[in-house]
Amino acid sequence: MTQTVQTLLILGASGDLAARLLMPAFGQLVQERPGEHVRLVGAGSEEWTQARWRKAVRASFAAAGASGPAVERVLAETVYLSADVTNPDDLTRLLEKCEGTPAIYFALPPAISALACKALEKVDLPAGTQLALEKPFGTDRRSAAALNTQVLKLVPEDQVQRIDHFLGRSTVLNLLGLRFANRIFEPLWSAEHIASVDIVYDEQLALEGRARYYDKAGALIDMIQSHLLQVLAVLAMEAPASIDAQDLRDAKATVLRATRVWNDDPTTSSRRGRYLAGEIDGKKLPAYAKENGVDPALKTETLAEVTFEIENWRWAGVPFTLRSGKALGVRRREIVITFKAPQHLPHGLHGKIEPTVLRLQLAPDAMSLELNINGPGDPHEIDRSVLSADFGPGQLQAYGEVLSGVFDGDPSLSVRGDTAEQCWRIVAPVIAAWKADKVALDGYRAGSNGPSKWKPIG
Ligand code: NDP
Repeated sequence: MTQTVQTLLILGASGDLAARLLMPAFGQLVQERPGEHVRLVGAGSEEWTQARWRKAVRASFAAAGASGPAVERVLAETVYLSADVTNPDDLTRLLEKCEGTPAIYFALPPAISALACKALEKVDLPAGTQLALEKPFGTDRRSAAALNTQVLKLVPEDQVQRIDHFLGRSTVLNLLGLRFANRIFEPLWSAEHIASVDIVYDEQLALEGRARYYDKAGALIDMIQSHLLQVLAVLAMEAPASIDAQDLRDAKATVLRATRVWNDDPTTSSRRGRYLAGEIDGKKLPAYAKENGVDPALKTETLAEVTFEIENWRWAGVPFTLRSGKALGVRRREIVITFKAPQHLPHGLHGKIEPTVLRLQLAPDAMSLELNINGPGDPHEIDRSVLSADFGPGQLQAYGEVLSGVFDGDPSLSVRGDTAEQCWRIVAPVIAAWKADKVALDGYRAGSNGPSKWKPIG
């Protein structure tokens, strides 16, 4: 059985992910679980003094509003070591600073994570060590398979956490409650009653100085290949008997194995765009191709949209369109489930019948159900009405939820190895078609809602 983790060892502790997302979530988790004695060890290639490190950790904790005696104890005990994480001797030195069972969090560029895993083969890992690997996991199906083989030389699968913080988002967890703790949705949750599903994650944020990573990834890999396919899996999976790691991840894996590009034709089922100069909320933005560190020749897309089909009894024929992009005029993060039209409208009722639509908004979490009812005035006239509810924020941030899984040795909210490979298999035809220039790279003005010729979805 996996032991509870007592030291979080962050490799890449001086990076953006560690400062902005990981350490704030860790601080929040420590505050929530004051009875547990946990330690934090940071490692980066730069020389940092202990004072500089403590200041950085304190700032991250403060950003999450984390305080109290347990948080102060972590701050007093934390250490930073300058190390080359691809060197086994340096990794041994880092592990010597860990107390109890360690969780090694690879907050590193993906290529360095792969080298660090290779180096760990020469290191004695304490029993129960958890490995937490960030996305993207590999760069294609083959490299993901090779990385899986590599990490499984180090620890068993249930000690590997391939992080997808979307699975820690309360909306995704709310989906489980909505689907399986109510009688009214699940009987309608199939091709018989649902016409289409759209999963949209449009951001107003542009590149924000992250060219080093993003220019080689793009919206398809950064968002659809990793996060949005996980959301699709939770939305479309069969009801698991439990939400433990095996049942939940088996159900997700089954549905992802059945998922493929609509009509097996990426040229008609995918679209890509790249932002041009524009303005968002009064802030002027340069064209993506002119952003610092961008190589325009890579033709990296900043907006991607792909339609998939799930080839099984429940979903055959229902288009699932996943879209995500940067520098868009409106921040839109939602799952849109559009139901089929009613089979028959009794004679005597009139008005425009729109499909029933269920919307699940992400961050802040909310839902709305758009219905046709007999509204005010003429009782024979059909009107549109919306029932809405706010879910309220989760107790922990998404990364806090993910880290609590790492600390408890519970991988339910992380991506299993076979699923990571499947997600690359699913998008591979799109990547190939885009590389071969079989799909145009459309321009859109930053601050607009995408290329003007694209038909809106959802
Ligand atoms: P950064 O480039 O900001 O940070 C990378 C870190 O790795 C730095 O601390 C760097 O240390 C360290 N590093 C690189 N090479 C070595 C080495 N040989 N030995 C020791 N340390 C090394 O990247 P991010 O923090 O943005 O991303 C890290 C990972 O998290 C990536 O896989 C990314 O895809 C993922 N991710 C990032 C998100 C984000 O918002 N930033 C969101 C979701 C996932 P130094 O600076 O000292 O060289």
